Amino acid sequence: MQKFEDFGLSTEMLNALSKKGFEEPSEIQKLVIPELLKERTHLIGQAQTGTGKTAAFGIPILETIEADKTVRALILTPTRELANQVADEIYSLKGEKNLKVLAVYGGASIENQIKKLKSGVDIVVGTPGRVMDLMRKKILKVDQLDYFVLDEADEMLNMGFLEDIEAILEKTNDEKKMLFFSATIPKAIMAIAKKFMPEHKLLKVEKKELTTNLTEQIYYEVKQEDKFEALCRVLDYEQDFYGIVFCRTKSEVDDVTNKLKARNYDAECIHGDITQVLRQKALDLFKKKILTILVATDVAARGIDVSNLTHVINYSIPQEAESYVHRIGRTGRAGQKGIAITFVTPREASKLAQIKRITKTDIKREHIPNVEEILE
Ligand code: ADP
Ligand code: MG
Repeated sequence: MQKFEDFGLSTEMLNALSKKGFEEPSEIQKLVIPELLKERTHLIGQAQTGTGKTAAFGIPILETIEADKTVRALILTPTRELANQVADEIYSLKGEKNLKVLAVYGGASIENQIKKLKSGVDIVVGTPGRVMDLMRKKILKVDQLDYFVLDEADEMLNMGFLEDIEAILEKTNDEKKMLFFSATIPKAIMAIAKKFMPEHKLLKVEKKELTTNLTEQIYYEVKQEDKFEALCRVLDYEQDFYGIVFCRTKSEVDDVTNKLKARNYDAECIHGDITQVLRQKALDLFKKKILTILVATDVAARGIDVSNLTHVINYSIPQEAESYVHRIGRTGRAGQKGIAITFVTPREASKLAQIKRITKTDIKREHIPNVEEILE
């Protein structure tokens, strides 16, 4: 078995890792870390959500760049939350090393970001729009990179960032290493990989199973107009509910959250139209378990690092099997059992069948808890 000690990491890094409680490298880390420490290759790293991809690229970046207040690593993420989360994870791994890590994204003061960049930053994590803004202002220089990282590459393309990514790449220096990380590798990713890095390694952790067997998967057949009642029943029935309620649209998220609040449930929501400050506030409360019900869209919740949820509720059935897997992957982690409940309207039966087929899992029908059971 490979240990972090086997990679020849600095004592500082080993200390930071043990402080974080990382006992041994994850599968993707075992593949990526030695590769990046040893050779200058471009690479694509593929592994499921929650498998530690951030540290897989973060550790080698921290170990190999000079702290010279020049931007040596640029990491692009699809959302502000992920920019913060990745920056935090890298920051927490840097130990005593005098490296500056900065997250840049829209919806937060550009002046502050400019001030920090001017004072010298080594690693920038950002969303494409703000990165381009700062490049245009000639505040952010990307011509001395050692690393260019595309995190959640599949999601970046889903969100239509291809042109932005290309525009940013045009301005970068040739010598950098390019690293793409993603849970899935759709054709579009292979296409841009081919264009920008004809030679690259593909390091992939095969999915053992699409879904974890620590997560019990059930569904309720419920009419659209009865969904909210069904949700309340679940919330009333479950003693220690700590979960995310996934909705299809922003307006559905708002609607469900408002109705929950009106009934005195302690719920908050996150989606793209909510200000950064409020989203972060909701997330912080949720991570601390002060808030136990979070209502969200797929995009807002994508990659958000909360594990050990007791429940994932698919208030709206996801359109893709992939997103079903992403959603329910938030439960059943670290050896704790979780439950994924999907609300299926009669018209969505075929969608459910498709998800079962692709994920090769049995999602069992159960009845919605009735009032007697809740009172028990
Ligand atoms: P991904 O990007 O693959 O979805 P993350 O990088 O966000 O996954 O990591 C998911 C969680 O696992 C984070 O809380 C991270 O700190 C933790 N983690 C990463 N590597 C390890 C490890 N080797 N041991 C324990 N926890 C880890
Ligand atoms: Mg990630």
